[in-house]
Amino acid sequence: MQTINEIEHYLNVINGKQLPATQGKQLTSINPANGKVWATIPCSTEEDIDLAIKHAKQAVPAWSQLSAMERAKYLREIALQVEKYGEELAMLETKDNGWVYRETLHGLIPSLVSIWLDAAGAASHVNKGETVQLDEETIGYTLREPLGIVVGILPWNAPLFTFTIKAAYALAAGNAVIIKPSEHASVSSLKYTELLNQILPPGILNVISGDGSTGSYLVGHRDVDRVTLTGSGQTARAITKKLAQSPKPVTFELGGKSPNIVFADADVKKAAEGVTLNGIFTGNAGQICVGGSRILVQKDILPDFLPLMKKSIEESIHFGDPMNLATSMGPIANNVQYKKVCDFIELGKQEGGEVIFGGNYGGESFFDDQADLQKGYWVEPTLLLVKDSSLRICQEEVFGPVSVVLPFDNEEDALRLANDTSFGLGAGIWTNNLGRAHRMMKKIDSGNVWVNTYRRVGPELPFGGFKESGFGKDSLLENTREKACVIHIG
Ligand code: NAD
Repeated sequence: MQTINEIEHYLNVINGKQLPATQGKQLTSINPANGKVWATIPCSTEEDIDLAIKHAKQAVPAWSQLSAMERAKYLREIALQVEKYGEELAMLETKDNGWVYRETLHGLIPSLVSIWLDAAGAASHVNKGETVQLDEETIGYTLREPLGIVVGILPWNAPLFTFTIKAAYALAAGNAVIIKPSEHASVSSLKYTELLNQILPPGILNVISGDGSTGSYLVGHRDVDRVTLTGSGQTARAITKKLAQSPKPVTFELGGKSPNIVFADADVKKAAEGVTLNGIFTGNAGQICVGGSRILVQKDILPDFLPLMKKSIEESIHFGDPMNLATSMGPIANNVQYKKVCDFIELGKQEGGEVIFGGNYGGESFFDDQADLQKGYWVEPTLLLVKDSSLRICQEEVFGPVSVVLPFDNEEDALRLANDTSFGLGAGIWTNNLGRAHRMMKKIDSGNVWVNTYRRVGPELPFGGFKESGFGKDSLLENTREKACVIHIG
């Protein structure tokens, strides 16, 4: 990285070397808190991609032939490296996408460390297979092998987290990895790869920045053996089309419109905090795939529950410089998304939604005395009370600090509303009735269900979506292929 006229210039990492894009083209990175360009990233060409694939391919045999224990040792060293450079990585993530520093530093970095350690511990499972006595004289067994080159395509809302779940298990299984971060937030991934390459052999972990066309060329390349995307349904559809020409295993981690359901028998104070602060008005302003953007509240408690939600937002959400440790919610990560979120707020109002909290946007509305932040992409935490689940504001992913509040009558009604969406990523249930919790958990059509808590994810449990929220998991086994072997010894 070089700094020229206060702009930082970041580079691709291919075969352990930091390189600009071959034709020297660059994209800019904007700090969403103030709307200013602060860094450049390479706008990679097909030549850059071919180079990364060539080196990754050359690096695979030696890496995959290491014992699982030797690969695990590298991954443990990486965990230490992430701890060592945690402050710098957290700062870059915050500058790049606005996710508040107190969460990137104290939440994100420790979670990356635990994923690398979990992958190190899981590495030896690659060597485990099944043995089957087929008959008296014939024995069958299975072998797990790495796939080869795994490509990880990242979104802008959580680059380092998605990078890590894609890279850690793929590397543990013996693959080489090429990461393509989002054009809206690549800096942390470029720096991360540079730091990790101080440990890994060259060619095993590469990063190439660029836009959708870079991603498209990469996933369609015949030497790529697996694709894992975290992103939108639109990109998943484009990749599916592309893979029709060059079929390979694919994992899609996509969007959501997750219900967070509050029953009258819940601890309502805890639920009001859970559905607002941790549910949707997160440190990265609701730009979180499992954001509980449909808060379903049992009608009997609605009049008392609305003020409780407002109170918890007023007491705990503090806008401001995302680098300030007192700031609890940041801006929208980029201008494209900012416009989309603002348009959704207007749509929700036009569709008859009653604004019961927030609804304002634009830095000028919030920062009279901080000129620097006025050009940032700021949106107030917004709650819209609606009655009809079929509205677009109830069905489409906003991906911002905006949630609808939908009243329901009873358990059956709650279940109907919870499943009334094409997505199936997360769901929260707030109740003190254990039987109800179990019934709801079984019947809700989503990959993750939390009771009296929300957004509890980590390497201890699988994570993935149902329906249009995707399929597959970034696990160790999905980064392997299984071979059936038969020996006749008669
Ligand atoms: P996006 O789909 O616009 O972009 C994601 C990535 O795909 C970017 O790197 C982009 O350059 C690349 N891309 C675009 N077109 C491509 C193509 N044709 N071929 C290959 N790559 C292409 O998504 P986004 O706006 O960056 O991210 C937001 C979305 O990600 C939301 O829907 C959110 O819910 C989802 N998300 C899901 C999870 C999860 O774990 N399920 C986590 C985080 C974000």
